[in-house]
Amino acid sequence: MTFSPAELRAQFPILSSRPGGRPLHYLDNAATAQVPQAVLDAVTRHETTSRANVRRGLHRLADKATEAYENARAAVARHMGARAPEEVVFTAGTTSAINLVAHGFGAGLGEGDEVVLSVAEHHSNILPWRFLAERSGVVLGYLPANEEGRVDTGALDGTLSERCKLIAVSHCSNVTGAITDISRVVAAARRVGARVLLDGAQFVPSRPLDVAALGVDFYAFSGHKMYGPGGVGVLWGRAEALAELPPFLGGGGMVRTLDGDAVTFADPPWRFEAGTPPIAQAVGLGAAAEWLAQLDWPGAQRHVAGLVARTLDGMAGIDGLRVIGPGADNSRTGVVSFVLAGVHAHDLAQVLDAHGVAVRGGHHCAQPLMEHFGLAATTRASFAFYNDGGDVDALLAGIKEAAEKLR
Ligand code: PMP
Repeated sequence: MTFSPAELRAQFPILSSRPGGRPLHYLDNAATAQVPQAVLDAVTRHETTSRANVRRGLHRLADKATEAYENARAAVARHMGARAPEEVVFTAGTTSAINLVAHGFGAGLGEGDEVVLSVAEHHSNILPWRFLAERSGVVLGYLPANEEGRVDTGALDGTLSERCKLIAVSHCSNVTGAITDISRVVAAARRVGARVLLDGAQFVPSRPLDVAALGVDFYAFSGHKMYGPGGVGVLWGRAEALAELPPFLGGGGMVRTLDGDAVTFADPPWRFEAGTPPIAQAVGLGAAAEWLAQLDWPGAQRHVAGLVARTLDGMAGIDGLRVIGPGADNSRTGVVSFVLAGVHAHDLAQVLDAHGVAVRGGHHCAQPLMEHFGLAATTRASFAFYNDGGDVDALLAGIKEAAEKLR
């Protein structure tokens, strides 16, 4: 299918809504992306034809629900290049996927073992490891970032200790859009026998993914950022890596037998899906994966790169505006952070809202990276495939007005 931004845009009902009576310029996609009709239809179809609990029913509707849930797992597995659907664990999102690994993998670590993160991580890839460090004496290390905010993977060469058991870094920054050079991470980890976890929350919505080719062990992402429903996400683990993990949450559906004191746990992925999972949301996530799989990716990426280039060009002409992150090259996604001298990020976001432009202002749950840049906050515009030149122009016009009004 050839890429047409207008046709794509028409698939998203919310984009033709007029909140506050103004056209919507939705540029907060890195926080949550919008949902296409195909995903909404899949969820409605499921809820109206197949709603029941999964993996425990004895009636036909329960079989249908289980089939829909497992088909969704298979669709996600295909889209991300997993070797088998069983490598895909449904979670509540990126945060719960990383917590699962911090507990499960962390249970095998002890005093003095090391986990290496980076200063460019979202808090959800820092705090679970901080908690682990407090519980078990695991030592945390942080890779530095360069002046663009990109993780400096070169710092791994020759410095990784034999005690390093895991490197957990973001595949792409939610502040700068910079993509991390994963091949260097994997090579360094292999030299010392460490595992690699990637936080793919920002990568998955913007690039095709092939986890097997990446050579990592764990990969986490959220449905609501990849054009799917909220409340659902994925922990992918290589079969061998998942097999080693003890369960995280206990509850229904994750044991094979519970007989007195003797418990045998179900195999992955079900071992990690205690309780009733987010069934309709997982079905919607499967539909989002199928929707992404049929996208003209080269066309879509060129389109977003063009919007970013136009934005950076326009920003270069605004006095006192500093872009936080890489320039318009191929190793970045559609996330553009910036600061305007003399104007607070929150005030700027509010003026933009008055123009119908939805952006994020704040520390983006990435305070170590803010510290790296010597900032408390940035304003962040994040582009998705359905954005267009009109969104860029509205953003630039709003920033210019804020510069005039607030300084
Ligand atoms: N990691 C990154 C890079 C993110 O951008 C986000 C969401 N802002 C998260 C993790 C957390 O995702 P969630 O809140 O969906 O669990």
